[in-house]
Amino acid sequence: MVVATRPEALLQPRPKPRRGTYFIQTWGCQMNEEDSEQIGLALQGIGFEPAASPAHAQVILLNTCSVRRKPEDKAFSLLGELAEVKRANPGLVVGVCGCMAQIRADEIKRRAPHVDFVLGTGDLSHVAGLVEESLQARRFRTRLELPERKGAVVDEVPTRLVGRAPKLKAFVPIQYGCDKFCTFCIVPSTRGRERSRPTDDIVEEVRALAAGGTREVTLLGQTVNSYGKNLAEGRVPFSRLLWRLAETEGLERIRFTSPYPRDFKSDLIETIRDCPKVMEHCHVPLQSGDDAVLAAMHRQYTVESFSQIVADLRAAVPGIAITTDIIVGFPGETDGQFEATLRVVERLRFDSAFMFIYSPRPGTPAAEMEQVPIALRRARLARLIELQNRIGIEAHHAMVGQTAEVLIEGPSPKNPAMLQGYTRDFKMAHFPGSADRAGRLAQVRLTSAHRWGLGGELV
Ligand code: SF4
Repeated sequence: MVVATRPEALLQPRPKPRRGTYFIQTWGCQMNEEDSEQIGLALQGIGFEPAASPAHAQVILLNTCSVRRKPEDKAFSLLGELAEVKRANPGLVVGVCGCMAQIRADEIKRRAPHVDFVLGTGDLSHVAGLVEESLQARRFRTRLELPERKGAVVDEVPTRLVGRAPKLKAFVPIQYGCDKFCTFCIVPSTRGRERSRPTDDIVEEVRALAAGGTREVTLLGQTVNSYGKNLAEGRVPFSRLLWRLAETEGLERIRFTSPYPRDFKSDLIETIRDCPKVMEHCHVPLQSGDDAVLAAMHRQYTVESFSQIVADLRAAVPGIAITTDIIVGFPGETDGQFEATLRVVERLRFDSAFMFIYSPRPGTPAAEMEQVPIALRRARLARLIELQNRIGIEAHHAMVGQTAEVLIEGPSPKNPAMLQGYTRDFKMAHFPGSADRAGRLAQVRLTSAHRWGLGGELV
């Protein structure tokens, strides 16, 4: 994640590189971070280079998020700052990409007429052409087409660009869009219907990454375990994809996020248990601990069926880490329903959780429902965070004394004498060691626990 600067910083004189430089401000999820990398690769393909800050860029792109209101407000705020910058530097190209671009193009044009183009989520490789056109002639442009499913088969998925710099860990999107239509969620509008990438494409990308030094991949999809429908090659269960990727030479670890609870089948649990490269961590979004709220959210599972998945995972893979997402203050949520969520959190003991206040998204059914007062939503969130923080620290303390495999990422940014990396159950560990061990797997004896991770020593 990069941080926006103030207008006065943006107004510094800009150097004139051979072709140009770009800066991408990213908000939102891992899929957006991955999209920003694809945008960057597309711009590098036409001779642009990344700039260290927006103050040094000839092209500034905002890769936006619409899941909550706050990142949208931040995007419009930065666009406001860029109006002044563009007046001082008329040659500057400003583009808006991502989910907010997909659904609010008209509003962006009205509120930020200095924007050169708006590019939706359909195929980000169009960004290169849009930048070229904007450099030649000033005219507001949009590209918002989302691929449609033609009958039962999907034959259009975004073009993936290659030529990535070597990296230890990589995100690999395997599925785009979503068919679940949760009543609070804007994603089916911003990213379209569920589309899976052909298996061979994914296998080839992971093979290329591993050959370049990648040791861990995280497979991305809105409902990643629903992968494999509507493929020309026929249905491919997600578990089969995991086993195929596990054959990749040089690859050590495979993660995935986020599975959809209803589609969590026994073959996936068996694969997590039996496939040595699949990591012992599952992020399974609960959202609410009350069945009536889950039904109003259109989540297609119950507290009981969700709890069964957690029980089955823990029975099959002792010690597996389970993390979750929870929304508090969904429209109509009563005190009693919120208390039910607290009880489920206490009972299921997640290792960690992303916890959010419900944020109404215009155009979704839940935005039209009767809203819980914001002060009450905030108070509930504070109680939930307090509970989950206690449980999370207890989970970390329970690991002290164990020895865990860690993929060493390199020195800690806060203390270069310490190395850092993640365990197979996705806990951050810090331990003394020399930087030349970066990129290797190591056994670490865990000796201390804190809120965000674990301390230890190399075995
Ligand atoms: S499963 Fe629900 S919350 Fe997740 S992306 Fe799809 S519609 Fe949104």
